[in-house]
Amino acid sequence: METTGAAKKRFAKELKKVLIVGRTNVGKSTLFNRIVGKPLSITSDVPGTTRDVIYKPAEWGGRMFLLADSGGAGAGDKLANYVWDRVRKAIKEADLILLMVDVKSGILPLDEELARMIKKAGKKAYVVVNKIDATSKAVATPEEFFRLGFEDIFPISAAHGWGVGDLLDAIVEDIPPESIKRFKKDKVRVAILGRPNAGKSSILNYFAGKPIAIVSPTAGTTRDAVDVELDDMIVVDTAGITRRFKDDLSYYSYVRSKRSLRYAEVGLVVIDAEVGVHHLDKKIVSMVINEGRGLVIAMNKIDVLNKKEKRAFFAHVEEELKSVWWAPKVPVSALTGEGMDYLRSVLKGARSGIFKRISKRDARRLMEELASRNLPPTKIYDFYQIRNLPPTFLIKAKAKLPDFYLRYIENALRERWGFFAAPIRFITEAPY
Ligand code: GDP
Ligand code: GDP
Repeated sequence: METTGAAKKRFAKELKKVLIVGRTNVGKSTLFNRIVGKPLSITSDVPGTTRDVIYKPAEWGGRMFLLADSGGAGAGDKLANYVWDRVRKAIKEADLILLMVDVKSGILPLDEELARMIKKAGKKAYVVVNKIDATSKAVATPEEFFRLGFEDIFPISAAHGWGVGDLLDAIVEDIPPESIKRFKKDKVRVAILGRPNAGKSSILNYFAGKPIAIVSPTAGTTRDAVDVELDDMIVVDTAGITRRFKDDLSYYSYVRSKRSLRYAEVGLVVIDAEVGVHHLDKKIVSMVINEGRGLVIAMNKIDVLNKKEKRAFFAHVEEELKSVWWAPKVPVSALTGEGMDYLRSVLKGARSGIFKRISKRDARRLMEELASRNLPPTKIYDFYQIRNLPPTFLIKAKAKLPDFYLRYIENALRERWGFFAAPIRFITEAPY
């Protein structure tokens, strides 16, 4: 077993660089941690504890970018001078600057200095007005910060998350959704997802054959994402698995799961037989579909159910997840090992499903057959597969096809070629 990160690094190079700058204590590391999902720099009231500009991958709405905290730009001592220099350099390298200010203190000379520096570098910037939760202490209103000379102002509370979504929307606005190339290694890349306690780490440990300790408890020493490479698969972002989240709806686990999926080919959603299908499980399943990854469901802890309960549980899962009827649902026990070998082979199979390609000729022929059996509601001119991960088909038609006809096509595609565990997408090019 070894850990890998090289592919990720290559991948990260081409991403947009977003840099947070601001005075010490305005809340830069708080915002950084909220977006990146994990304390990488130590938050404290001591000026200048964040010293290195380290870009980390961040994700919003299926779009990736890189985020860095420039550290405190305080004035006075030697460290501060060094920091100024570094901030200037960092601004030059960045594609977008988040100039962070504190609504409690209003505009201070250092804020103006940073604004000048950004304009001199000719960089696009958003003014992020932080701590709006502390309005009683506020000496300024967010509007006053227009004085800094930038058009876009985002009032937020980094500590509470208020306004951060709007800010992220703006950051990713011009970023096209990423599509990752097939990772070279002939091993399926799996993200293990699910609610806390569903058995994600138990499954990982079972696959690995021994307990895996991944997360170092010291803030700032944990790696951003740790992949565990096994004989036949790479489990991505395992650091996210062993971290515990107080609240499963939390922003952290949401962003984290999405990010894991970005680096994965298949999402393994673990459902707890003791709990049943929870609404969050459905959310996680939708996330896998939206990210266009292969979907495999593990129904874990079946050792706790007797025969009759098992039957009821399987029926319950089928019913609750009938929108993804095509996804393999594998009963397992990470505790006893039951079903685990089968799960392994299903995950491997999912890789071929998600990367399946059929020729233009085969696709066109199928469409002809379908149209002759069941006249399409609108004229279809052409039909073929344009990509994989997930398998995506282009339909050139006179008008958009209704859902029932798309389902008809999807069923036929699955019937003929399987597309095992893969969500299938259609893009309609109309009108002609
Ligand atoms: P940095 O020096 O700019 O990285 O600032 P930090 O992220 O370390 O935050 C400085 C202080 O401001 C800490 O005590 C944070 O808890 C606090 N802080 C950060 N964001 C907020 C916020 O949105 N509201 C309030 N009230 N305090 C915040
Ligand atoms: P995670 O939070 O999703 O990583 O869940 P864990 O792997 O830490 O498991 C949560 C709890 O469920 C632990 O107490 C495990 O021992 C238990 N557990 C995990 N898998 C199984 C299983 O297949 N059967 C039973 N009975 N318990 C399990």
